[in-house]
Amino acid sequence: MSKINLEQFSKYSKPGPRYTSYPTALEFSEDFEYDSYIKYLEDGKEAISLYVHLPFCRSACYFCGCNVVFTSKSSKLSQYVEYLKREIDILVKHIDNSREVIQFHFGGGTPTFYSAYELDEIINYIKDKFPNWSREAEVSVEIDPRYFNREQMEVFKKHGFNRISFGIQDFEDRVQEAVHRVQPYELTKEAVDLAREFGIDSINTDLIYGLPYQTLESFKRTLEKVLTLNPDRFAVFNYAHVPWLKKTMRKFDETTLPSPATKLEIFQYTIEFFQDNGYKMIGMDHFAKPSDELFGAIAKGELHRNFQGYTTKGGANLVGIGLTSIGEGSRYYAQNSKDMKSYEAAIDSGRLPFERGVELSDDDYIRKAVIMELMANFSIDIARVEKTHNIDFNNYFEDALENLREFIDEGLVTLSKDKLKVSQTGTLLIRNIAMPFDAYMQKYSGSKKSFSKTV
Ligand code: SF4
Repeated sequence: MSKINLEQFSKYSKPGPRYTSYPTALEFSEDFEYDSYIKYLEDGKEAISLYVHLPFCRSACYFCGCNVVFTSKSSKLSQYVEYLKREIDILVKHIDNSREVIQFHFGGGTPTFYSAYELDEIINYIKDKFPNWSREAEVSVEIDPRYFNREQMEVFKKHGFNRISFGIQDFEDRVQEAVHRVQPYELTKEAVDLAREFGIDSINTDLIYGLPYQTLESFKRTLEKVLTLNPDRFAVFNYAHVPWLKKTMRKFDETTLPSPATKLEIFQYTIEFFQDNGYKMIGMDHFAKPSDELFGAIAKGELHRNFQGYTTKGGANLVGIGLTSIGEGSRYYAQNSKDMKSYEAAIDSGRLPFERGVELSDDDYIRKAVIMELMANFSIDIARVEKTHNIDFNNYFEDALENLREFIDEGLVTLSKDKLKVSQTGTLLIRNIAMPFDAYMQKYSGSKKSFSKTV
């Protein structure tokens, strides 16, 4: 990767989507009605990917953008399990549960805030109601090393979990104190060692850059430490500072946040660090060993990005279960209620806790395919897009290509008859490069508070 010109790059630091979905969640609304969602579920034939949201945490990490419920009351946790079961009962009335489950993910919150016994109870219930699990299913969970024990690991092993993602963020004491998440290296290592002992195939660790007090030097120390854990995959996320949406982020002294130029330096160093240590970059913020199945998917143009990151199981119908969870079909996104009372009230009345979402128009559908291909593969196979969607790429995206001109002129994007390709340095700006293809950007151009900054 060529050395970046920090001044040149800083001009690209502007609000922009992360494109975990297209259209983005800002387009989700109640115009997408309950009966339409139910029809999509009933008509679906694809394999299923289940996402189950366990929203509870003991205390707030100030950087956190997830939908979390803070509690120390075990009665709240067990009440939620009862509602989850009832939600699943309603769900299976509307979905053919003989469809194959090829992916399962526990997200949160802190899934391991639940005891081994409760986790076992939830998984047994789901497996009972969705009995057709593929032998090759990708079964994963997010784990906070501060709340993780052997009994829980035994439950995950028993149920065939094969991917574990550990939250780390940063190993520096000063950063950990500022973000209100003190998690010593030794504790994290014990957690990773435990997963290894149980033969987990794929161990992922999450880091975040852009947190208070981080510098290039401090992040180098974190990278050295995390490398000793020898993960199979790393995710290194750009901290999304959106204090107007998340109250806990207001606790940060903004003068301690690294500048866009420092963040770019950190990320460029991170890319080189992982490459020097035998990892390859995937999409905009992931790294994996070259033997990882994700690279096979890239070669075939089959890598996909969804709310849980990068996956090879892109054709599946993602079904969200639990508070605030998001489901995805080829033509819709559907989100459950974010408010516990409304969530429970919907289930009490015998309905799914679906609250809002969006149905994709033909134009959304085409743009989603293009944006997701860019975010996953850093390129667009123009010939394939034209054939699949029966369009003339240059005509259809005339405006987008015009807006990409500055990236092309700066050598960050190359455009030929059959392919649009982002250079290695351009990958640092992939959100900016995807934005011209987004038909909704115009609508948000005056609003600084829609999205986090791209750099
Ligand atoms: S980062 Fe994880 S543990 Fe921390 S508040 Fe968010 S969901 Fe909870």
